[in-house]
Amino acid sequence: MRRDIFNEEHEALREQFRRFAQREIEPKIEEWNSRGMSDRETWRRMGAAGFLGAAAPTEYGGSGGDFLYDVVIMEEMAYLRAHALMMSLHSDIVLPYLLTYGSEEQKRKYVPGCVSGEILLGIAMTEPGTGSDLANVQTRAQRQGDHYVVNGSKTFISNGQIGDLFVVVAKTDPDARPAHRGISLLLVEADTPGFIRGRKLDKLGLRGQDTSELAFEDCVVPLSNVLGQEGQGFRMLMAKLQQERLTIAVGSVASCRRALDDTVAYVKQRYAFGQPVAAFQNTQFKLAELATEVEIGEAFIDKLLAAHVRGDEIVKEVSMAKWWTTDLQKRLTSECVQLHGGYGFMKEYPIAMDYADAAVQSIYAGTNEIMKVIIARRMGLE
Ligand SMILES: Cc1cc2nc3c(=O)[nH]c(=O)nc-3n(C[C@H](O)[C@H](O)[C@H](O)COP(=O)(O)OP(=O)(O)OC[C@H]3O[C@@H](n4cnc5c(N)ncnc54)[C@H](O)[C@@H]3O)c2cc1C
Repeated sequence: MRRDIFNEEHEALREQFRRFAQREIEPKIEEWNSRGMSDRETWRRMGAAGFLGAAAPTEYGGSGGDFLYDVVIMEEMAYLRAHALMMSLHSDIVLPYLLTYGSEEQKRKYVPGCVSGEILLGIAMTEPGTGSDLANVQTRAQRQGDHYVVNGSKTFISNGQIGDLFVVVAKTDPDARPAHRGISLLLVEADTPGFIRGRKLDKLGLRGQDTSELAFEDCVVPLSNVLGQEGQGFRMLMAKLQQERLTIAVGSVASCRRALDDTVAYVKQRYAFGQPVAAFQNTQFKLAELATEVEIGEAFIDKLLAAHVRGDEIVKEVSMAKWWTTDLQKRLTSECVQLHGGYGFMKEYPIAMDYADAAVQSIYAGTNEIMKVIIARRMGLE
């Protein structure tokens, strides 16, 4: 079905990106997955071709487009299973913090490099002792003269090995009550003394992503690297999580489409009892049901994308989309594995990896339980 949210320019970008991806991305996916990370050269090529930070203003080197330009690229990347190169984390999750809350000096210093692919971004919220309960972070940034001294540890940080600049969630006032008022966001460059990259973690899925531990040991960060105002970190995080969760939902629906398309193709050519697996009514009903749910998911996402681009506050609805689409992705990939029979369990079949990759979608960017907490609160259920 034609989707109304994209105009001709968005679709032209999609075509342009498909040609680029065929040449520059598809041939590298397997290598990234076995190495456990992407490569800087491809990031630079993405930047040079205008595919990073497409929504960043032109004065900082961006294309000045809307969020939908990035949506086009993230859908294509998810459909390709190019999960290693975390373009949406870089362009749509972390860069917006700089663009919205960065000082003019910070923007001039960092944004052009982010758009060109020279500066790769990450965000460090989660700690070994706390994930969902963000207000309880223990990483401490202590003011001393014209700088902060940062100490603490983070875990599960995407782009942890390849990243150059991290938005770090730290406590600048441990006595603040409520606790979230003591949280600030600091821009920390990865070559700062005391910034330590820890283990690259061994994961069930998303094997091409360099999810890592990070540590800060007396890491000296200039006061000028605070984002927005000290003590406003939690508010900024809450404001930006709407887009982060929307990107997860967009990726989920695109990944569902890929798993579904591949399964439809598989069941047509696999024979059992003298007929294609596609001819069994069970197969037809299962795939018909899943295809229906993908359409429903996409229709909801498109509605939310239009509202998000308009600037509406849709935290409740985006939370609904995040839990529902990621839940669908988990159910759908599980059914698709089943329809592949034993081959679905073999890593050489992409559907097996789709199943493993789907598992985390309901966990990061706020677990699906937290999404339901947010929805319930906004329904007045406390
Ligand atoms: C591959 C991967 C990449 C990631 N990338 C990043 C990154 O780049 N940056 C970053 O900062 N973090 C990242 N994370 C961390 C991720 O955001 C956290 O894992 C997530 O927020 C959950 O936190 P937790 O793991 O501490 O789980 P916990 O908070 O310990 O949750 C455990 C369980 O308790 C449930 N629970 C917790 N609180 C409630 C509640 N109030 N009501 C009901 N149930 C509740 C949760 O839903 C969950 O089921 C990543 C994680 C993974 C796996």
